Formats: sequence, structure tokens, C-alpha cells
Amino acid sequence: MATYRIAVLPGDGIGQEVTPEAVRVLKAVGKGAGVGFEFEPALVGGAAIDATGHPLAPGTLDLCRRSHAILFGAVGGPKWDTVAHERRPERGLLALRKELDLYANLRPAKCFPMLVDASPLKRSVVEGTDLMVIRELTGGLYFGEPRGLERLVDGGARAVNTMVYTSREIERIARTAFEVARKRRKRLASVDKANVLVVSQLWREVVTRVARDYPDVTLEHVLVDNCAMALVHRPSRFDTIVTENTFGDILSDEAAILAGSMGMLPSASLGGSVALYEPVHGTAPDIAGKGIANPIAAILSTAMLLRYTLSLEKDADRVERAVLRVLEQGHRTADIAGPGARTVGTKEMADLIVREVEDQY
Ligand code: NAD
Repeated sequence: MATYRIAVLPGDGIGQEVTPEAVRVLKAVGKGAGVGFEFEPALVGGAAIDATGHPLAPGTLDLCRRSHAILFGAVGGPKWDTVAHERRPERGLLALRKELDLYANLRPAKCFPMLVDASPLKRSVVEGTDLMVIRELTGGLYFGEPRGLERLVDGGARAVNTMVYTSREIERIARTAFEVARKRRKRLASVDKANVLVVSQLWREVVTRVARDYPDVTLEHVLVDNCAMALVHRPSRFDTIVTENTFGDILSDEAAILAGSMGMLPSASLGGSVALYEPVHGTAPDIAGKGIANPIAAILSTAMLLRYTLSLEKDADRVERAVLRVLEQGHRTADIAGPGARTVGTKEMADLIVREVEDQY
């Protein structure tokens, strides 16, 4: 029996409530599919600061490197808002991304048919939305040199950031995107600003070259301003989107609105030898400790883990189908319930999903 080691890093707030539920779902998959999982917990974020003084506890990075995948919750909260910048909880996550070279951030945005009315956009716009935004995570404007602020003698100031990409960085994210598009509906939109930016011209050139290795995937180039418009006008026209860091930061948040609630959105960060899976949401201090957080984002992150790290496509489908069925039966956590609707808590929602997973084996 194949056995996989999963590093479990719940972090803080509702991260500690939803991550154990995601683990239960993976255990149910393991039992049904005859796959062994070893779950090893580790500290990150505020919990790690409290216990060790560091946002990435000694040993956590090493465990991650020795694991097949990382299941991450969320980090941060008011308790640690005043600690020094380099010791803040999110430094733990940033350090993991950097150390593990997680350069590809995958964020699906799917509008579940029964939750169409949870989106602030019109039903006619969001219906049928099922897209994946792939954001380059370690290059571009956020990291480029030179950068800095200069005070001028005339009393003014000048600030610089640099958008820079090498062809190697573009090629590796493009390959990830084509591979992902291949597992979906085989359509890839590469988003850039090639009519203005030289960096985007190189981006377009490299993506076009890589496309020759993926003749089964249809590639189109879309300007970022057009893409931003199309996402709120006709999102169902997209399947997989790939773009650089800054554009991806903005577009993936825009796409999140289509899904209705933060509690529904999973994500994956791929790159080096081990990938990290986490819900998009944060630690939700306003509801932490109440047992009412929606575990679906964390649970759908396990489906991504099954699909992208373990290539267990059918089992990933089973987890997604289980979520869909439970929603079809009308069960809702508070964040996705309409006014006056009966709601279930974190554990109850996870119980229902685990049962639906088990029923499929
Ligand atoms: P948040 O995502 O934690 O919460 C935003 C709103 O969405 C809140 O009203 C919250 O109750 C609700 N919400 C989020 N997830 C939910 C779920 N699963 N079920 C039900 N409702 C849910 O964002 P925030 O309030 O801006 O940030 C809170 C803390 O989380 C901050 O310390 C922030 O730095 C941190 N944060 C961490 C990450 C991460 O670890 N990747 C990401 C975002 C924010």
C-alpha cells in the first residue's frame, strides 16, 4: 500500500478548527482507496510564536521538506498584531513559500449552482462559472530590484519598484498552467499587458513557445484590463487563467467574489518538491472558537492535494462530489445560509461530507 506523509500545520484561529476536519476527509479517502496517510502536526504562525518565539517553529520546515504535501490552515490574529514585523505570524507562511520555492499559486473559483444567490453578482453572470486562476508567486513587481524610496533635495520624493521576469521563470509557470489546463477543460488564457509592458512581451513570447508542447490545450492571450472586465461580465468564458504576480493577486481576489463566500475557496501552492494546500480565507477572529466556521474551503483543499500531488484524480472527484451532494441536500454553514435558514456547525458539516465520501467507495 502506498503511504504518504502529510505535514499538518493548522496555524491559528479557525485554522485550528477546519484543518482537523480536512484531515478526517483524507482519512476517509485513505480507507476507501487503500492509500496510507501519516499525518504529522507542526506549529506555524501565532501558535508557533507562543510556543517557540518564532513564526516558523524549529523543525516545521524540515518536516515539510520530508513530507509529500502540506495541509495548512491560516495564520494571524489580533493577539500578535503588535509583534515585530519580522516575527509576525504571516512570516511563517512567507518563509515556507520562499524556502520551498512555491512559485505557482492555484486558486479555483467555482460557483456552486445552489449558492448562485450568495454571490453579489447577478445569477445570469455567475451561473456556470468554474475557473482556475494560476498566479506566479515568487517574481515580478513584488520582488524585483531596484526598489526603494528616495527623498529629493527639492523636498519631493521618488519611489521605484521593478517588474522583472526571466524566461526561465515564465517558462516554469507556463508549464504548470498547461499541465493544469490539461486536467481541466483544456483551455488556457494567458493574461498580460503586452501592448505596453516589455516584460509582458517576453511573457507572451515564452508562453507561445511553451504552447507548442501542449497541442491539446487551446491558448489565448488576454490583456489584463480586458480580463478584469470579462471576469465580472462573462466569467464562464474562462477555464484556466495564468498570469504574473501582481495581475494574479488582483484577478484572483476578483474571481473569489464569484464563489460567494471565503469559506468555499481552496488553494494550492506548487513549485519545488512539496506543495502546500490551504483555504484562501484567514483565521476569522470574529468567529474563531465558536465552532461555526465553514470547513469546505479546507476540505476542497484536500481534493486539490489528491489531484495535484498524488494524481488521485478519481478520489479528488469523490471529495468534490461529496461537498456538492451535501450542499444539494440543503445543509449550510452560517456564512452561506440565507436569512432564517437552519445552519450546521463546522463538525456537523464535516460529518456530512465524510459520510458522503465513505458512501462512494
Ligand atoms: P478572514 O478571511 O479571516 O475573514 C474575513 C471574513 O470572512 C470574516 O468575517 C470571517 O468570519 C469570514 N470567514 C472567513 N473564512 C470563513 C469560514 N471558513 N467560514 C465562515 N466565515 C469565514 O480575513 P481577515 O478578517 O481579513 O483576516 C483575519 C486574520 O487572518 C488576520 O490576522 C489576517 O492577517 C489573517 N489572514 C491569514 C491568511 C493566511 O494565513 N493565508 C489569509 C488571510 C488573512
